Amino acid sequence: MNPQLKTLEQLQHTFDSGLTRPLSWRQQQLKQLSRFLEDHEKDLLEALQQDLGKCPSESQLTEIQFLKTDIRHSLKALPGWVKPRKVSNPMLAWPATSVIVPEPLGSVLVLGAWNYPVQLTLAPVIAAIAAGNCALIKPSEHAEATAKVFEKHLVNYLDSAAFKVITGGVEVSQQLTELPFDHIFYTGGPQAAKAIMAAAAKNLTPVTLELGGKSPAVVLSDADITVMARRIVWGKYLNAGQTCIAPDYLLVEESMKDRLIDALREQIAQFYGDDPQQSNDYGRIIHEQHWQRLTQMLDSENVVIGGDFDKRERYIAPTVIDGVSGDSSLMQEEIFGPLLPVVSVKSASEAIEFINTKPKPLALYVFSKDKRMLKQFTQRVSAGNVCYNDTLMFMLNDNLPFGGVGQSGMGCYHGKWGFDTFSHLKPVMTRSFSFDVALRYPPYSKLKDKV
Ligand code: NAD
Repeated sequence: MNPQLKTLEQLQHTFDSGLTRPLSWRQQQLKQLSRFLEDHEKDLLEALQQDLGKCPSESQLTEIQFLKTDIRHSLKALPGWVKPRKVSNPMLAWPATSVIVPEPLGSVLVLGAWNYPVQLTLAPVIAAIAAGNCALIKPSEHAEATAKVFEKHLVNYLDSAAFKVITGGVEVSQQLTELPFDHIFYTGGPQAAKAIMAAAAKNLTPVTLELGGKSPAVVLSDADITVMARRIVWGKYLNAGQTCIAPDYLLVEESMKDRLIDALREQIAQFYGDDPQQSNDYGRIIHEQHWQRLTQMLDSENVVIGGDFDKRERYIAPTVIDGVSGDSSLMQEEIFGPLLPVVSVKSASEAIEFINTKPKPLALYVFSKDKRMLKQFTQRVSAGNVCYNDTLMFMLNDNLPFGGVGQSGMGCYHGKWGFDTFSHLKPVMTRSFSFDVALRYPPYSKLKDKV
């Protein structure tokens, strides 16, 4: 018997008791989660430093503060989200009232990722709590120190009848995904996603898959070069490139390529100094296998910036590679590290055609002052998320859904979108006994007699 089944049964029992449904309970759990972040901030920052060499300021910005804002937003909006949503009725159904009642799904499984292991594990949990679910939380085994903080402390803050933390590797993930959860929320790579979806299918468990892909940044010749370079360097080298929405590669209009590379070089030096390995602000690669994979991709390529690495520290310098052809290994799969290939294009149209030959990306970035041109990208390129003239910043807007499309994922979350993901939006129509028009009832052959 699957050893995790008992845990799921306990959660199901809690859910069936109705504990998680009241608004006040959900609000209290969200506040407790905030308290956990407050009380164990130091432990989490240290763990992130250990797992990914993340500097505390970066962890604050991209993990702790991100979650605190998400909790604040959810707490403020939750009384509105839980209310039945009234909708109008067709004339044929008059008199009636129709409402959409959000109801919790039940017991859900959250499989966290390792690259932002606090944010990407707890943001789905915030949504699950807000929607009134029980959750089994499985942090990534690759961010081991962070997982330990969750295992040791999180359970002391959340209601232990409704939330469990289980740590472990692929085997544990496999056991969990075979169980009849009411929803599985997974963040990570496409290979595991396929196995998870196949396991979930056996129980008809719905899944949300937050995946990745090759997110392009298109640089057109009219872009503000200094601001653009700063924003690309920030978005690419944050967390040593291990960000699912980092620009994976650049598509640059030929006429400005050399100027762009100079601007990137200057910006990298401004952020991380002449030797980024000594910078407190620059992270490390999660584990040796991932480091090996990245450094192998680097072999014999045309490195114009960076290119140094150090196995002992799992360090890879912020690197830019020029003259990359479409069929280079760097262009075959998501890089997920601090290597930035530059591919020249003659025009925006060529860039669009290039992107459209690849699976739909998680994020699309375009830098241009030409609004009509940007509109072309919106209309002609399908991507999980789009951000013009910046990178990553759309993540800060809780009013926008976050999620992929096609190979970059399915389903979405953040703010009310997350609440809806973890809710069944139940339609409830209430009719009146009056005006019982006979026309709709058989026998239809006697229709004429009824009018
Ligand atoms: P991974 O291969 O380490 O897998 C992640 C999790 O899946 C692990 O916890 C593991 O235990 C589990 N797992 C692995 N195989 C499994 C199986 N057969 N059955 C059940 N569970 C299994 O993750 P990774 O590929 O290193 O993650 C990197 C990827 O994640 C990148 O593609 C990145 O773009 C993506 N990502 C996406 C987002 C997002 O929000 N969309 C965020 C972070 C990372």
